[in-house]
Amino acid sequence: MLIIEWSLASGWKKPYIKPLENLSLHPASSSLHYAIELFEGMKAYRGVDGKIRLFRPTLNMDRMARSARRATLPPSLGVKKPTKALLYVIMSPVGPYFASGSFNPISLWADPKYVRAWKGGTGDCKLGGNYGSSIYAQQEALELGCQQVLWLYGEDHQITEVGTMNLFLYWINEDGEDELATPPLDGIILPGVTRQSILDLARNWGEFKVSERYITMSDLTAALEENRVKEMFGAGTACIVCPISKILYKGKHLHIPTMENGPQLTSRFLNKLSDIQYGREDSDWAVLVS
Ligand SMILES: *Cc1c(COP(=O)(O)O)cnc(C)c1O
Repeated sequence: MLIIEWSLASGWKKPYIKPLENLSLHPASSSLHYAIELFEGMKAYRGVDGKIRLFRPTLNMDRMARSARRATLPPSLGVKKPTKALLYVIMSPVGPYFASGSFNPISLWADPKYVRAWKGGTGDCKLGGNYGSSIYAQQEALELGCQQVLWLYGEDHQITEVGTMNLFLYWINEDGEDELATPPLDGIILPGVTRQSILDLARNWGEFKVSERYITMSDLTAALEENRVKEMFGAGTACIVCPISKILYKGKHLHIPTMENGPQLTSRFLNKLSDIQYGREDSDWAVLVS
C-alpha cells in the first residue's frame, strides 16, 4: 500500500510503500469511499442524585435502524451491499452544556446556493455523507462572520435546519395566532429526538398552536417587519436548545429578537428537558442505567 501522510505543520511527507496491515478498518472499506456509514449522537446524564440516565434512547435506536436500512441499499452502480460491518461506541465525557445557565445566541448565514438535503435523498437519516458535504458551507459561513448555516430549500427558500440542529420559530403567525412552528418531516428534515420532545411538551401544555409546517424566508422577513417574531432557536442533543439572534440573508443582517423576549419559551424548554435529563423531575423519558 502506498501511503503519504500530511500534516498542517509540515505538509505532505515522503511517500512510502508497505504491506497492507491487518487493520480493523480496511482502507478500501465502502464506508470510506462511498460513505456507507451512519452514526448516532446520544448523551448519558449524571443526575443530581448521582444516578445515570439516558434520554428517550429507544428513539435513537429506532432512528439508527432506519439509517441502517437506508445505508445498505441493494447493489447498484457497481457498489456491492456490505457483507461486514463495525459498530463503534465512543464514550467521552461532556459537561452540562449550559452549566452557567447562560445562553449564547448564534448568528446564521442563509444562502440557497448550498443545500443540505433534498427530496429522495438521505437528509432524514444520520448518514455520514450528509455531514461531509456540509462542511464547505459551514466554512463559508465562518468567513462571513456567521457561526452556522441556516439551510434553505427550494425556489421559495424554505427554512429547514440550522447547522446540525432542527429549527423552531415561536411567533404570531399570518392569522394572528401564537404559534410554535418547525418544518414537517417531509424527507429533508432529520427527525431529532429533541425536536420530537419539544413538540410533545408544547402539545401537552396546550397553551399555543403547535405546527409542523413550511416556513419560508419571505414568511420570516414579513413577520420581522411586522414585529411578529418572538423567538427562534435550534434544537439538538448537543446543546438541547440554542437561541438565534441574527441571520445574514441576501447581504442583509436580519435581527431576530430572541434574546429581547427572554428568551422565555426557549429557556422553558431548556429547563424542562434538563430537569428530566438530570433527574430533577421524574419522567418516563429518562431511562436509568444500572
Ligand atoms: C442529529 C441531528 C439533529 C438533532 O437530533 P437530536 O436527536 O435531537 O440530537 C438535527 N439535525 C441534524 C441534521 C442532525 O444531524
